[in-house]
Amino acid sequence: MSEAVPDVIVIGGGIAGASVASKLSRDQNVLILEAESQPGYHSTGRSAALFFQNYGNAPIRKLTSASRRFFEQPPDGFAEHPLLSPRGVLIIASEDQLDALAEQESAGVGLQRVDGREARELVPQLRADAVAAALYEPDARDIDVNALHLGYIRAFRKRGGRIVGDARVEQIRRRHGLWEIETRAGRFSAPIIINAAGAWADAIAQMAGVPTLGLTPLRRTAIIVEGPSERAAERWPLTGAADESFYFKPESGGKLMVSPADETPDVPGDVQPDELDIAIAADHFMRAVDHEIRRIEHSWAGLRTFAPDRTPVVGWSGEQGDAASGFFWLAGQGGYGIQTAPAMAALSAALIRGEALPADVQASGLDLAALSPDRFL
Ligand SMILES: Cc1cc2nc3c(=O)[nH]c(=O)nc-3n(C[C@H](O)[C@H](O)[C@H](O)COP(=O)(O)OP(=O)(O)OC[C@H]3O[C@@H](n4cnc5c(N)ncnc54)[C@H](O)[C@@H]3O)c2cc1C
Repeated sequence: MSEAVPDVIVIGGGIAGASVASKLSRDQNVLILEAESQPGYHSTGRSAALFFQNYGNAPIRKLTSASRRFFEQPPDGFAEHPLLSPRGVLIIASEDQLDALAEQESAGVGLQRVDGREARELVPQLRADAVAAALYEPDARDIDVNALHLGYIRAFRKRGGRIVGDARVEQIRRRHGLWEIETRAGRFSAPIIINAAGAWADAIAQMAGVPTLGLTPLRRTAIIVEGPSERAAERWPLTGAADESFYFKPESGGKLMVSPADETPDVPGDVQPDELDIAIAADHFMRAVDHEIRRIEHSWAGLRTFAPDRTPVVGWSGEQGDAASGFFWLAGQGGYGIQTAPAMAALSAALIRGEALPADVQASGLDLAALSPDRFL
């Protein structure tokens, strides 16, 4: 007996795919096709796990604020522990970065201006010449990304949703109102596909004969190093330079994650860190912080995939952006795809169902046209 054709196939089981699939599975038959055996293997499992309101352009900030309520009050049983925990963000500026700091201050909300001495009360190892002034967002939080991702997947499965792993999509064609999808795990079909394939989203569009959007995966590197003794760094805020040349963040066990905040264009794949970027991260850190890095304990790189205007793409493909295409974009989340996932999933589900925008998204003042794929046509 052949299986029922799902209402929707989601391509990609990272945070984008899992969150929208979970939303839709309330009343639709949804299938996730994931190329890897583990759905968090790519960008979702490689992030800095931060919820930072003053990050990204205006639409990103609106999507972040529209996601806050979900993070603070997830549905009952979604996760065993809170999804957010205190962290804070400190943006530091040396004398020659004060203009960049002023720009961030004027665009920001909830930021406190602090002087060099106050900044060093928060992060005592900061070198005096690295911080003439700083901005502090006390309300920035760490996200438990694994709990968020698992929470969505668990809720999805509970509602009858199915994930097929090791199912790399290799061919897509439209026939008789259905998408027919060939994967390494067999053939699947559905009237609607959601393209949540992260760095591969343009490749998926190309397979489906849908106009691509010029998405660019940008590689970002991270290293883990030993922090100052006695776990002194555990309470430090994430600290980054106003010119976005690097940042560092406490990790469990008194360790620190350091990133050179690199944005190197790359191709979709299992990216690995470059030795030069690792060296740059260590160098920036030691210029700003009075702590010697003796050993790099671990390093990784991940892709942050951006549309040309650095704003995500959410909506139906096609000139009219209507449902007739059956091809829905949920891509281009850049460096913000975790902190904006709840709002983007709720928004996508509403657009697919043809319902009113979710209340949190409406309250944020987001202009949907800013996210629409037809802005590039
Ligand atoms: C170093 C770093 C730090 C970051 N820090 C933050 C942060 O602090 N806060 C924040 O909000 N965001 C952060 N991000 C960004 C965030 O990680 C991404 O925006 C987010 O994970 C994107 O999710 P995704 O589901 O779109 O992509 P992915 O997690 O990459 O998922 C896409 C999935 O699609 C699958 N796929 C691809 N092609 C196919 C195919 N042909 N067939 C089937 N499946 C396919 C892939 O296997 C993959 O699992 C950071 C990213 C990096 C790299």
